[in-house]
Amino acid sequence: MRPLSYSRPSTIEQAVALAANDPRGAFLAGGTTEVDLIRAGVAVPDHLVDINDLPLYAVEELADGGLHIGALARMSDVAGARAVRERYPAISRALLLGASAQLRNMASLGGNLRQRTRCAYLRDGVSPCNKREPGSGCAALDGFNRGHAILGTSEHCIATHPSDVLVALVAFDAVVRTVGPLGERSIAADDLCLLPGETPELEHQLEHGELIVGIDVPAAPIARRSVYLKVRDRASYEFALVSVAAALEVHDGVVTAARLALGGVATKPWRARRAERALAGAPADPASFRRAAAAELDAAVGRGHNDFKAELAMRAVVQALSAAAA
Ligand code: SF4
Repeated sequence: MRPLSYSRPSTIEQAVALAANDPRGAFLAGGTTEVDLIRAGVAVPDHLVDINDLPLYAVEELADGGLHIGALARMSDVAGARAVRERYPAISRALLLGASAQLRNMASLGGNLRQRTRCAYLRDGVSPCNKREPGSGCAALDGFNRGHAILGTSEHCIATHPSDVLVALVAFDAVVRTVGPLGERSIAADDLCLLPGETPELEHQLEHGELIVGIDVPAAPIARRSVYLKVRDRASYEFALVSVAAALEVHDGVVTAARLALGGVATKPWRARRAERALAGAPADPASFRRAAAAELDAAVGRGHNDFKAELAMRAVVQALSAAAA
């Protein structure tokens, strides 16, 4: 048995100090990821800082049409909030398609953004894994990689980021607010997660002891008719093989603005900027949507079992854009 201490601070400053001052301190919110990782031996904190008493639960409409989501707001509460359903249906849908009802009632938004990849080789505790043990290799490269990434990979890691809601947040230029030992920071949601490159053990750009306190989503009229499409092996309680957050503005049959982000296919939530550029000024029809998808997925690299994901992603993009344009 390993000793594990626990504290439950009532201010953000106390929480940050407690986690930052212990090299193996970690935050605990809903516990739906952290406790799993501790049980698997992948996370080995010696001090859990329970942040559930912090005043970070609000889901607020901003006067400018945007949205503020407190980091401790539960997935189910955010999904059901009127402002989210009306202003950003893709965010609500992404949350409802994640996890199970019980998990959505417990899991926090901040924790969702920080969750680690579901790569089975990371979690089995014994396979070579550069994320768990840098320099040990990557068992997924020549192993069973059906669920792994085809975009943003490196020779050191091909794991996908598992979040659904972060895909939608990236599509709408959300900003992640943090407080850490060095003060407050604002990080574009698109920049929160890191590509594996030469350092796959670094999954996000948060410092040790840096706490996500909220997420701001700027006003985006285009998002009011946004969609989130998730393709997976079973209808519930399953991670995406491919997911798509999409929104379009169409005038006289021509695309005037597009937002597109992909999940399940990349090592981080993937803003499809090449596809967005290809859509600008194009007819709002399936042929244009397919060309835009191809512009993004030209760079895809499969590793055998996951080769099918490129074509699946193309079809999912066409379907999601068609729904957004309807
Ligand atoms: Fe580890 Fe990444 Fe390879 Fe999975 S894909 S075994 S997480 S290095």
